[in-house]
Amino acid sequence: MKAIVFYEHGSPDVLKYVDLPQPQPNPEQVLVKLHAAALNHVDLFVRRGWKGLNLNFPHILGADGAGEIVAVGENVSGWQVGERVVINANLGCGTCDFCLAGEDNRCRNWELLGETVNGTYADHILIAPKQLFRLPEQFDYHAAAAASLVYQTAWHSLITRGKLRPGETVLIVGASGGVNTASIQIAKLTGASPIVVGSAKEKLELAEKLGAEILIDRSKTENWSKEVYRLTHRSGVDVVVDNVGTTFPQSLRALRSGGRLLTVGNTAAPKFEIDNRYIFAKHLSIIGSTMGTLKDFSEVMSLVVAGKLAPVLDKTFPLADARLAHERLEKNEQLGKITLSIE
Ligand SMILES: [Zn+2]
Repeated sequence: MKAIVFYEHGSPDVLKYVDLPQPQPNPEQVLVKLHAAALNHVDLFVRRGWKGLNLNFPHILGADGAGEIVAVGENVSGWQVGERVVINANLGCGTCDFCLAGEDNRCRNWELLGETVNGTYADHILIAPKQLFRLPEQFDYHAAAAASLVYQTAWHSLITRGKLRPGETVLIVGASGGVNTASIQIAKLTGASPIVVGSAKEKLELAEKLGAEILIDRSKTENWSKEVYRLTHRSGVDVVVDNVGTTFPQSLRALRSGGRLLTVGNTAAPKFEIDNRYIFAKHLSIIGSTMGTLKDFSEVMSLVVAGKLAPVLDKTFPLADARLAHERLEKNEQLGKITLSIE
């Protein structure tokens, strides 16, 4: 099979397009012929490497993928060759206490496709059938791949953990990342009112198109928490979605008494100072989570294939040009999800 691999950590130049032996499913797996993969920031982090990450080289990146089943292991039931599927990259073990409680994104033996095991930058992948969601005829493979990781992550944070309710105000810090664009749509679909803080004009325009009711340009309004306060008649917002990290001080100020700050990551930096007085004096909750459960995945993908949530697609590159796709993501030039087209 064709795949993008790397043999050592480094710049996008370490990515190589190579031939590998065709994989064969074990009795519990299916073999999927991939047609699309989508990029995530985790792909860049894994390519660069970090202390404690020990990969078996050559390694194949990629969490998100969609395609069709081309072979089914002998013990697999309920899945047929030819079915169109999107893959869930969260690999819970299925047997630990968290998995048995339906909290498989807290699995004790958790793995992520493309991080700890080989991923979707390839024309074929072996996968356990519990990781699959059936796609309707005609549903675009690129849209499905682009939705998989970010929508379940946003859904788990806003709905499962954050308990977002109709009528609430939601401030989303950052206008363009995959989780943030998904969060705007999920907030709108829930009947909440999304407010977005962003910088570039085209990113704010996109946020507005997706349902943001109030836009704050932080290149013009540096003290945006004050502006949020003013716009909410001096009460603050019910919920803040902050996946930037270093913006926590402003986010905590923007919350109303009893508000919740939701976070699934830190695109800027993981360490920063916060003023504890905001947390106790305003009865705030900080709610962290990562990825989603199998139930979240199934719920949110049902809404995606029904057209109620629509992933924003940026550029598509051929699989062989994954290096160029990485360069685009590293420069933060994208507006929506970058995908790879797989022959
Ligand atoms: Zn588990």
